[in-house]
Amino acid sequence: MGDSPPDGPFAILLVEDEPVIRELVRTMLSDGEVQVECAANGAEGLKLARSRKFDLILLDVVLPQLDGITVCRMLKSEPSTASVPLYMLTAKTKKSDVEVATRAGANGYIVKPFRGSELMDLVERLRRERRG
Ligand code: CA
Repeated sequence: MGDSPPDGPFAILLVEDEPVIRELVRTMLSDGEVQVECAANGAEGLKLARSRKFDLILLDVVLPQLDGITVCRMLKSEPSTASVPLYMLTAKTKKSDVEVATRAGANGYIVKPFRGSELMDLVERLRRERRG
């Protein structure tokens, strides 16, 4: 799998079990140039992440079936997904939790409740990097 063409839509995978947050993020970020696909649990997220190339993965820490840290560790150990920027969504702000996410290979984290502008800034920054 190569990189997606820089002029294609910026594809985001959101793994989040709370429907309200899924809808909020989807509505906030989706436009003609940004596409958001959602998974409601860790197993579904893992399957989707392996099925196609994403430009960004937003991964909740506390998820049913397979927790976010485990999903992160798996994605970061597989060649086809290891290079995809992955940010954890976490309600936990304890330093040890951030360290666990970082050790699992996450590129960064966003603390809940997050502001829409934080997510949009992140997406903008990654889109600029993708364009080079
Ligand atoms: Ca959750």
